[in-house]
Amino acid sequence: MGFKTKIFGAPSRYVQGAGAIQALGRHIALLGDKVLVVGGKAGLSATREGREKSFKLLNILQIEDKFNGESSDEEIARLAAFGIRAGVSVLMASGGGKAIDAVKAAAEDMNVPAVIVPTIASNDAPCSALSVIYNNDGSFSRLRPLKNNPALVLMDTEIIAKAPVRTLVAGMGDALATWFEADACRRSNALNSFGGSVSEAGLALAKHCLNTIIEHGFNAKIACENQVVTHALEKVVEANTLLSGLGFENGGVAVAHALSEAFSAVPELHHAAHGETVAFGLLVQLILEDRPTAEINEIYEFCRSVGLPITLGDLGCEEIDKDTLRRAADAAAAPGNPSANMPFPVTGRMLYDAVRAADGLGRSFSAAK
Ligand SMILES: [Zn+2]
Repeated sequence: MGFKTKIFGAPSRYVQGAGAIQALGRHIALLGDKVLVVGGKAGLSATREGREKSFKLLNILQIEDKFNGESSDEEIARLAAFGIRAGVSVLMASGGGKAIDAVKAAAEDMNVPAVIVPTIASNDAPCSALSVIYNNDGSFSRLRPLKNNPALVLMDTEIIAKAPVRTLVAGMGDALATWFEADACRRSNALNSFGGSVSEAGLALAKHCLNTIIEHGFNAKIACENQVVTHALEKVVEANTLLSGLGFENGGVAVAHALSEAFSAVPELHHAAHGETVAFGLLVQLILEDRPTAEINEIYEFCRSVGLPITLGDLGCEEIDKDTLRRAADAAAAPGNPSANMPFPVTGRMLYDAVRAADGLGRSFSAAK
């Protein structure tokens, strides 16, 4: 009997706290003294004051560059060329999803450390050695595995508390699925992002991620609505970013993420955030797995309590065309897709039926309100 090789990967350093931006210079000084900071308008301005103060104290030079909005091969090449010309020793992202993906990839092309300072906690991308690459028109192109995880991920919870509540809730949706997907991968012996089996550490982090979201998610949402930092917010920001990031990368993904990806190609669902489609994809996965009713109900109740989608209508399309839905289900079941990580074969028909069942159950939960 051969034991599978376990592989565990993580960012070199994770820093989180209220006002943590004040310590950014101290952590970056270990990596270099000239930083190219990339982000959108809101992302750059959220960290500007803290950056300027903390860099000045340690004589760290910085250049700002506005992200063009797409994590495309062209934008990544532009950032890398700009950074090399400017002679920077660190590439930093200040913002949300796509800027983070582009910076991680461009830092690899420049051969400099990547520093990630998310200004929202909307998904589990900041910690991973993986970039999502999009075409210039915004459609999904591919996943680009990277050699290294970021050298530093820093979350200032005062900044996160001021971000739109919907971004924090979407992050909870992404984090809610982490353990269920890792557990499916464990049962099927699927490989994680590093090409190894999941470690005990990876599973424990994923499980703690789920427990943290269920226990503190609602209170964290209330804190964010009031733009204040509380213990619950701190715990959920860590779960959304670190626990979920380590959990998915070391545990692997399954139907929840396969459906999220397929849904991103459906025009009616374009306004849904990644974490929102993952949350609905998780409901589908739970039904497909025939999880105990009490467990399924608990996840539905939680989603309803924080405002995560439990019906297709919640995702933005009241009347979805059956053929469109069938095509999305077929795409999510196509070969080479994370649905193959389930411990049983998954067909498009099974996914279509489970999507309709998850939507129906969600509508009955909504009606019982
Ligand atoms: Zn995700």
